Amino acid sequence: MDIRLHDILTMKKAHPCGSHDWEVLRVGMDFRLKCRGCGHEIMVERRKAEKNIKSIEREGQKLC
Ligand SMILES: [Zn+2]
Repeated sequence: MDIRLHDILTMKKAHPCGSHDWEVLRVGMDFRLKCRGCGHEIMVERRKAEKNIKSIEREGQKLC
């Protein structure tokens, strides 16, 4: 899966704040993601994050 810095990931599972959207702050073995709802940052295993992705947005355009 092609995920780049500053992509917006829409997840299947919502964050407790109610938002499904996360900004990618770091890519690698793990992703650093920032919740667009509450600003909370998490580190998550790439494999786990990919399983939870519903759609990806880059520069305002939906990729999938
Ligand atoms: Zn949140």
